[in-house]
Amino acid sequence: MEELGRLPGIGPKTAQRLSFFILRAPRESVERLATSLIEVKARIRFCDDCFFIAEGERCAICTSSRRDRSVLCVVEEPLDVLAIERTGEYHGLYHVLHGALSPIDGIGPGELKIRELLTRLRRQAVSEVILATDPDMEGEATAAYLAEQLSPLGIRASRLAHGLPVGGELEYADELTLARAFSGRREF
Ligand SMILES: [Zn+2]
Repeated sequence: MEELGRLPGIGPKTAQRLSFFILRAPRESVERLATSLIEVKARIRFCDDCFFIAEGERCAICTSSRRDRSVLCVVEEPLDVLAIERTGEYHGLYHVLHGALSPIDGIGPGELKIRELLTRLRRQAVSEVILATDPDMEGEATAAYLAEQLSPLGIRASRLAHGLPVGGELEYADELTLARAFSGRREF
């Protein structure tokens, strides 16, 4: 119960319910869960280039020859990459920040993968950066900060079109809304 209660979104009641579920479940299914937990830490890591999930040093998107390397889409979380991939509308590369700027929570540029993004942009020939951070206060602040950092590099920055629920999270947007927001993106 204690361990499950540490997971995000799991309160004491849910931790209790899950514990009893595990207690009653057949041995094989519990072993399968335990093995997956161990395997995810042993086999999965974050991509050296974009910080999305990877099985080796670099992820399947960064190593794919079918992706357009001149466009970079900046998102907050790995789950946002999955949401955008589901739309099938985007064929460029990504950069996962692993959060958004939030001074109240002590999250400044140093806590996110921003330095890595700027290093990457100096090294790689990118013509457009799509700032696809969440349409909430932290996401907007992060996009504005990044646009400011990008302008001396001479890189065009764009922001997803409105239509995404304000204050919402990208990963929960439905595919059609997200696809429309992509095609309607405007220069920052
Ligand atoms: Zn990658």
